[in-house]
Amino acid sequence: MDFQTAKQYDDEYIIHSYGRFPVLLTKGKGATVQDDTGKTYIDFTSGIGVNALGFCDDNWVQAVSAQLQSLQHTSNLYYTEPCIQAAKLLCEKSGMKKVFFGNSGAEANEGVIKAARKYSFLKYGASRNKIIALQNSFHGRTMAALSATGQDAYHNFFFPFVDGFVFAKANDFADILSKMTDDVCAVILETVQGEGGVVPLDKEYVQAVAKACKEKDILLIVDEVQTGMGRTGSLFSYQQFGIQPDLVSCAKGLGGGLPIGAVLFGEKTETVFVPGDHGSTFGGNPVVCAGAVHILNTMDEAFLQDVQKKGAYLKEKIEKMPHVENVAGLGMMLGIQLDVEAKPVINALLEAGLLVLSAKTKIRLLPPLTITQEELDKGLTILEQTLASL
Ligand SMILES: *Cc1c(COP(=O)(O)O)cnc(C)c1O
Repeated sequence: MDFQTAKQYDDEYIIHSYGRFPVLLTKGKGATVQDDTGKTYIDFTSGIGVNALGFCDDNWVQAVSAQLQSLQHTSNLYYTEPCIQAAKLLCEKSGMKKVFFGNSGAEANEGVIKAARKYSFLKYGASRNKIIALQNSFHGRTMAALSATGQDAYHNFFFPFVDGFVFAKANDFADILSKMTDDVCAVILETVQGEGGVVPLDKEYVQAVAKACKEKDILLIVDEVQTGMGRTGSLFSYQQFGIQPDLVSCAKGLGGGLPIGAVLFGEKTETVFVPGDHGSTFGGNPVVCAGAVHILNTMDEAFLQDVQKKGAYLKEKIEKMPHVENVAGLGMMLGIQLDVEAKPVINALLEAGLLVLSAKTKIRLLPPLTITQEELDKGLTILEQTLASL
């Protein structure tokens, strides 16, 4: 199928809920991907932070394929090994106690919201159910996750939204403290607001929030859907903030390209769910979990240090480029603020052979964590030349 045919069928048969770039991608390896005409692109997107090991990493493909040939799915009524291995690795590497598997980031956030509310219900009764989220946050597209998202643009059309969310100003401790009233059961935050424009929270702020939560028995939920799985240079970003959350949601990079979401439960919350409280037909799927096991085994100290190094390299190079006002972010999750509008630049980069993302007014970069030095430099050269030609 060529691009024109693909576009025609897409227009005809797919709901128009995405603004797509005019490219038909067909095949990728590492951080290089090609379209139907054979044109190649350097990938600084990882499919929005999903392909942590890039396109079709050999060992990941092998891990997934081997599982695919022995058992593709059972149901959660039976034990399967990959799901148990993935959960064990997640707990050992996160300091959390237990795992629930679902299929996406939004679903993981549904899980943390339910867990937080039930924890509080059991201890304090039904009226202590409010959750503080941050302004400019993003937590997903399902009804509760949308309700928890602190951006007015998402609070339209689909009324009624889920009740019980309060929004505090990010990096303003006095504001969030004033909202920690007796009816609040949890705080949910992203350490680096991804969709919100790659805005990192201050370490002191996050630590102060964690401390206040602990004192008031308010659960601290960290949404690691985008920041997790090595993206920021530690397996989970909260590990760089010196805190231990009560609940963590993760997804995106965890499957390396297959759909998975997970809720990690801490000491306070590990016994909250009992049979019947929560579930997912596909959750913990053995093929997907075999991919996750491979990812988790790959992300050792040396791997994470390499992510930090590459992130610092990208930041240092980009900061010196024309039209760049600043580069924010952590590890290989970076947002570039330009002194010109980002959208036309993103289109020009595509034309020149570099895939990037946007976030609010910024260009957002989420390159595969395994990107080679050569691919990094190729991408940076395209970026520099494109910015210089403006
Ligand atoms: C992408 C994202 C989500 C939603 O994940 P889906 O898999 O699209 O449901 C939730 N939270 C954050 C921080 C995200 O970046």
